[in-house]
Amino acid sequence: MKIKDAMSVIGSLSKPSKMPGFSFGLNPNLCNQGNILSQIEGSVCNKCYAKKGFYNVYKKQMAETWAKRLNGVNNILFESAMITLIQKKSPDYFRWHDAGDLQNMEHLKKIVRIARALPNTKFWMPTKEVNLIRSYNKTYGEFPSNLVVRVSGFMVDKGASKGFKNTSTVTTNKTLATCRAFENGGKCNECRNCWDSNINNIVYLEH
Ligand code: SF4
Repeated sequence: MKIKDAMSVIGSLSKPSKMPGFSFGLNPNLCNQGNILSQIEGSVCNKCYAKKGFYNVYKKQMAETWAKRLNGVNNILFESAMITLIQKKSPDYFRWHDAGDLQNMEHLKKIVRIARALPNTKFWMPTKEVNLIRSYNKTYGEFPSNLVVRVSGFMVDKGASKGFKNTSTVTTNKTLATCRAFENGGKCNECRNCWDSNINNIVYLEH
């Protein structure tokens, strides 16, 4: 598939300034678990970063961008388009969902197939869709080794979700944060810990 055809399927990739490589974000208002959590004081979604800052300033454009990408996810050419774009633009590291989250099991299965098709690319996907992840693992087994699925804890200053190999949590205490991006102008620089399946839990400082 040509790049321009791939772009016409998915609309665009996102390029978070923090990290290496590209990402693919969706509308945070469509998060299934996230929208339940956003109503709960003290949850990690109560002050969702993807609903404020840059995303809020450009919210009209972002809404259009996210809508195109969601159409892309549901397009039968989604996998071919993403494989083409990742190979060309982000062959080493790719992050799923700098905003938004998994929509359903079919979406997750597409992401797994993309990882299998690109064994030399490292994928990291944070998610709060615990039931989808449990259901996938029960039915289909482990994820490919190049796809690190980090299940995000639901509440700030609380522990990780139980029963998953890779997780993340959020703290308000700088000394407890293992992600030190806040010391580097919010950038990952050389750190790639989120993509490393040997690191069980990452602790982020609350945004
Ligand atoms: S732990 Fe490392 S790779 Fe992950 S967000 Fe922080 S700086 Fe980036």
